[in-house]
Amino acid sequence: MAVTRKRILVVEDEQDIAEMIAYNLEREGFQVESAHSGEEGLSKAKADHPDLVVLDIMLPEMNGLDVCRALRSDRATQGIPIVMLTARDEEIDVVTGLEVGADDYITKPFSPKVLIARIRAVLRRRRESEESRSEFLQVGKLTMDRGKHRVMVTGKAVELTHTEFELLCVLAQRPGWVFSRSQLIDSLRDGQLVITDRAIDVQVANLRKKLGACGHYIQTVRGVGYRMTETP
Ligand code: CA
Repeated sequence: MAVTRKRILVVEDEQDIAEMIAYNLEREGFQVESAHSGEEGLSKAKADHPDLVVLDIMLPEMNGLDVCRALRSDRATQGIPIVMLTARDEEIDVVTGLEVGADDYITKPFSPKVLIARIRAVLRRRRESEESRSEFLQVGKLTMDRGKHRVMVTGKAVELTHTEFELLCVLAQRPGWVFSRSQLIDSLRDGQLVITDRAIDVQVANLRKKLGACGHYIQTVRGVGYRMTETP
């Protein structure tokens, strides 16, 4: 089986640093695309869907933090891992970088070895979390196919909204496990969209209705949140 080379997009305006990164990544077997401004980085990430983005914070036009926010708020790009580059002592940038959704950051000047180790670690974590998200889920008479975004109750397809579907998958992934509302909110967080406790309750009520014969699988745990189980 051919090993596909991981594609890395490097967004860095400083030519010598960009070249140093590209040279070292290519030597390690990665395929490298380069962008020299925030705008260019954003449009390349949207067009090419790289496996990971190395994103400098100080960039002309649109800075790295804004690029990161933009990537995270778009469903098509929100899953792309991001490693940020920051100048020494820009502690505020580091904190903000992680807040806006970067997976890791590295302080300049850095050794290529360290950067590559960080990139490999982020890619490995990403692969592990994807593998744990199994495509098919089943609880009692309820089956879900995440790949096809399809839900069946006793063999009949049920139409759900995207949020309802995601919420159902979170619950069904760990049957019997009690999720607090804030855990559910966290797992549904989507870019700028704000989800409240009340919204979770509404989604659950709609889900129960739509799931019909399996509606009672979603149980309220008073004072805590919700769990999914086929046994009453
Ligand atoms: Ca820069």
